[in-house]
Amino acid sequence: MPELTALSQSSLQDYNDCPRRFELRYLQRLAYPAIETEPALENERHQREGEYFHRMAQQYFIGIPAEQAGKLANSDNLERWWDNFMTDKDLTGLRDLAGLRTEVTLSAPLGAFRLVAKYDLIARDGDRFFIYDWKTYRKRPKNEFLAVRLQTRVYRALLVRAGAFLNDGKSIAPEQIEMIYWFSDFPNDPGRFPYQSDQFKRDWDALARFAEEISSASAYPKTDDTARCLYCPYRSYCNRGVRAGDALDAELETEAEELFDLNFDQIGEIEF
Ligand code: SF4
Repeated sequence: MPELTALSQSSLQDYNDCPRRFELRYLQRLAYPAIETEPALENERHQREGEYFHRMAQQYFIGIPAEQAGKLANSDNLERWWDNFMTDKDLTGLRDLAGLRTEVTLSAPLGAFRLVAKYDLIARDGDRFFIYDWKTYRKRPKNEFLAVRLQTRVYRALLVRAGAFLNDGKSIAPEQIEMIYWFSDFPNDPGRFPYQSDQFKRDWDALARFAEEISSASAYPKTDDTARCLYCPYRSYCNRGVRAGDALDAELETEAEELFDLNFDQIGEIEF
């Protein structure tokens, strides 16, 4: 079994939701089967469009003219999302800020692992730091759901631990940070999550406990919550039913970034 050296928000989310899923995906590295919800082709297309949208937003924030970045909008969804993006002046106005980092990867030691996260955009405005994450979900998740997601907790905590290079060498305090999920189909309803020192302490302690548990685990049990299996692409490995879950819920459950191929030499910003 290949050695696991890095943890990410999605591997931790999987471990939290179902240790068996974590084992299959990150330790056994079984190919992540296509989501079995229907219609499969439509889901695949939506996923590809989501990737395109991320590329367009990145191009915009690195200074490529909007007309040029907008040329990638070659479908109805992408046109609508781009239109929503360009008409959100709070968002496009960020381009005037000097401290913008797109697609930046941060990493810090976490127990026996490195905790790694790739951010869509970190914007510095004075002494405030805004983490933006683009979501192309077809359904707007509730803030209560987002608040407890590992992504929300990892991204803010890791910026505290590893973001000093963005803050003239000084650690960023939790109170300086806010995370914002911007939904391409719900542009007037972003999810905003400020941060506090006590939250950071709780988050980092919880992450450290996860790392400790993972490094000493000898078994990876299946979740008792069989509702999670409805959206899980590994159902066929677990005899957990054949009925597919709702595609819109599946998109929240199965979203993930791949960190297997991450080259640590390429992460210039790091360390704490
Ligand atoms: S099908 Fe259920 S038990 Fe199996 S990996 Fe997925 S969530 Fe876990």
